Amino acid sequence: MASTTQHRNGTCTRCGSRLIHLEWEERLDPHQLQQLWRCLECKNEFVIPRDSEEESTTSAEIIAPFFTNLVVE
Ligand SMILES: [Zn+2]
Repeated sequence: MASTTQHRNGTCTRCGSRLIHLEWEERLDPHQLQQLWRCLECKNEFVIPRDSEEESTTSAEIIAPFFTNLVVE
C-alpha cells in the first residue's frame, strides 16, 4: 500500500504543517466523507474529501438491516 501516503493524515495546504486538527466531518454519500481541518500553525482551514470505503463502519451499515431482518423473523 505505498500509494496511500498522500494526505493520509493530512498536512496544511498553505504552510505544510502537520499540526492540524479535525474540526468536523460530513458524509457526502455512502462512499465519501468530507473533512474540515484547521491548521494550528497558520489558522488555515481546508476541506479534504475522503474515500470511506476502507472504514469498517461502511460494511457494518450495509450488513445491519439484513441482519436485523434475520433476527425479527
Ligand atoms: Zn498552516
